[in-house]
This record gives sequence, C-alpha cells and structure tokens, in this order.
Amino acid sequence: MRKYLIAGNWKMNLVPSEAKKFAKQLVESIKNVDKDVDVMIAPPFTALDAVAQEIKGSIIKLGAQNVNDNEKGAFTGEVSADMLLDLGVEYVIIGHSERRTIYKETDELINKKISFSLKKGLKVVFCVGELLSERESGKTNDVVKTQVVGGLKNISADDMKSIVIAYEPVWAIGTGKVATPEQAEEVHAFIRNTIKDLYSKEVSDNITIQYGGSVTDTSVDGLMSKENIDGALVGGASLKVDSFTRIAKFQK
Ligand code: PEP
Repeated sequence: MRKYLIAGNWKMNLVPSEAKKFAKQLVESIKNVDKDVDVMIAPPFTALDAVAQEIKGSIIKLGAQNVNDNEKGAFTGEVSADMLLDLGVEYVIIGHSERRTIYKETDELINKKISFSLKKGLKVVFCVGELLSERESGKTNDVVKTQVVGGLKNISADDMKSIVIAYEPVWAIGTGKVATPEQAEEVHAFIRNTIKDLYSKEVSDNITIQYGGSVTDTSVDGLMSKENIDGALVGGASLKVDSFTRIAKFQK
C-alpha cells in the first residue's frame, strides 16, 4: 500500500537562524501524525544544515528544493547530490513550476536530474502541472502526460519506488486558488493511469501522487478524501507551524 507524503516547500524564505527556530517548533508540534504519513520539509540550501540538526531523531525528513545533474566540477553556483546527502537530505524536489518557468528547466533537464538523483540514492518529488491557459484550452491531460513521459524517460520500474509525483496546477501555486478536490482527483487518476501504461498496475498502485497548489489547513481534508490523492506539497502554509501541523494531521 502506498504511503501518504505531506511536504513543505519553504522556497526562498527563512535565513538559517530563523529556519532553525522554526524547525524546532515544528518538531514539537508535529509529533503523533498517523504511521502511514511521511512528513518532509525542504528548506533553502543555506538552512539545510541547521534544520538537519533540529529534526534529527524526529519523524520529519529533510528535502532539498533543487540539485544539479552532474557529479561535481565547474558548475558555479550549483549544488550536487553528494553535498545534499552529506547533510542528511533524503528527498529532492525536481521540476517545480517555478524552476520550469523562471529558470527554463526543460523535461530533458528534469529527466537528467531525476536519473542522477536516483542513481545517488535520493528520493525524488517530481512536479508536473499545467498553466491556466493550457487548462482553459482543454490541454491539461496532454501537458501533464508530456511532462510525466519526458521526466521519467529511461527510469526503471524499480526506481519508481523512490519517486513521488506532485501534481501542481501552475494556476493554483501561490495564488490562493486551490483546485477543487474533483479537479485534482481527475488529473491524479489520469496520472496514475499514465503510470500504469508506462509501467504496470503494480507500479501505478504503489506510487504516491501528491497535490500541490494553495493547500491550507481548511482545504486539505477535502483533497485528501479523494482516492488518488496521497498527500500534499505545500508552499505558503508550510511556513506556519499550526497550519502545516494541521495539514500533516489531515482527516481522510
Ligand atoms: C509549491 O510551492 O509547491 C506550492 C504548492 O506553493 P503554495 O502552497 O504556496 O501554492
């Protein structure tokens, strides 16, 4: 049976001293989530070390927001998988819409990052999702399928055990405009079916598919009541201890 994953993407927020304090409060507040729920937070690179120290021994797992697709070398400003692993990072978010849109990351680059991260032993949260204009012109499924197929090129069925897919409609990210549970469920079911066609029923039954896009403590239960929604990738609401804790303690 698949596990739920509630993940917080802190984006470019909190300096290390703030992050450390926040993580300490979160560790206290987020005890006692259900056993079938994993909780992950992805601070900025500069705060990973401080946060790693605070969450050690707790149920909270450490994630990073990006990674380079090369082993090491002349890549000024980049961060390698080994650097993340050495700090205790377990997950990396790849393909976030902000990286696709602002930093022009292509499906090809995303695929390279996914392959390399898996080879290194990182778990991957692989984000996909359509723009508002694409939804309005009826292209949601086509766009999401292209992203899923492109991002997972040459990824083995066995490696799929280390991948979580996050469906994040771009129009819902940071806008306060959460998708309805029905809108999200429709795309989640489509993604699961796409995974079934690419791999097998077993792989598709076992893959965790999170929803992301303006999830709050009030919208999480409705989303999580849907059969194919296995968690949430949370931006804004992950920066408030109470909200993120309530999201991690969602009622299915
Ligand atoms: C995100 O950054 O992945 C996200 C979903 O942000 P928000 O929850 O703020 O919409």
